[in-house]
Amino acid sequence: MGEALAQLSEHAPQGNPLAGGTNLVVEMRVGRHQGKSMVDLGRLKELRGIQAQNGHIVIGGGTTVSELLKHPLIADHAVPLCQSAAVFANPLIRNRATVAGNLVDASPAADLAPPLLALGAEVELVSREHTRWVSLDEFMVGVRKTLIQPDELMRSIRWSKPPKRSAGAFYKVGLRKADAISVLSAAVMVACDTSGRCKLARIALGALAPRPLRAYEAEDVLQGQPLQAEGIAEAARLAAEAARPISDIRGTAEYRKRVTEVIVRRLLVQASEALEHP
Ligand SMILES: Cc1cc2nc3c(=O)[nH]c(=O)nc-3n(C[C@H](O)[C@H](O)[C@H](O)COP(=O)(O)OP(=O)(O)OC[C@H]3O[C@@H](n4cnc5c(N)ncnc54)[C@H](O)[C@@H]3O)c2cc1C
Repeated sequence: MGEALAQLSEHAPQGNPLAGGTNLVVEMRVGRHQGKSMVDLGRLKELRGIQAQNGHIVIGGGTTVSELLKHPLIADHAVPLCQSAAVFANPLIRNRATVAGNLVDASPAADLAPPLLALGAEVELVSREHTRWVSLDEFMVGVRKTLIQPDELMRSIRWSKPPKRSAGAFYKVGLRKADAISVLSAAVMVACDTSGRCKLARIALGALAPRPLRAYEAEDVLQGQPLQAEGIAEAARLAAEAARPISDIRGTAEYRKRVTEVIVRRLLVQASEALEHP
């Protein structure tokens, strides 16, 4: 890890961390990326592993999508992430694609971002000189733009273990069942107190704005209320209002907004039913 950071620092801004290569190599082949040097992260042990640590789940940046799917801590403490990994690309890509690669590439349609936003994740950025934690929501600033500096690596990603009586879900709308770029995606996490009132609500949207985003106003509507049809419908309406989609070959902006409301409502109903019947 020290050597990789030294190489990045020496060659910044021309050095490029290379993880699974499923974005970077494709970009280079079509001439959209003029990288002069690559720093291969493939065998760095410091970027691997999934563990529970001080009330958090911590995953190495080099964790692959396939590894997410196999790990019991992800199944137990990150249901929306597990559901997203299950519909990510195809098995070959899942074996190479890494979590850090997905987040640093910062496509508006990055499928791991909405579930990690719904989990309230933070990312750890390290250089030779410093280590800093940044909330994922702040990390992604625009289309393929993040706060990462050329001499930094994303070492890990962490989130607090969801509380008892919590539930979450993710859904991706694609034009086919596998290997599809998201037309849109959404993830939710909710938790209730013993009286059934919502004490935590996070709603995250993908492919609906220049970057994956949280629908804060929609979340606020649910806070402190029982998770019932009226509040859920209003939260879904506000989530669709927060979306700023474009029209492209995969769908019009209007279509995306309408479907967002339906999907967010269904996910919130699904999560509230999971809370009622754990
Ligand atoms: C056929 C195909 C299907 C795909 N399907 C999907 C899909 O369904 N959903 C989806 O979201 N994406 C999809 N992708 C895109 C891609 O697979 C993912 O974004 C993947 O997670 C990228 O990870 P990687 O390890 O391959 O990144 P790389 O290509 O190695 O790197 C991507 C970027 O991240 C940087 N980087 C990587 N690791 C680090 C690190 N630890 N620290 C700092 N910078 C780092 C690299 O320098 C580069 O800028 C698909 C790609 C292909 C080719």
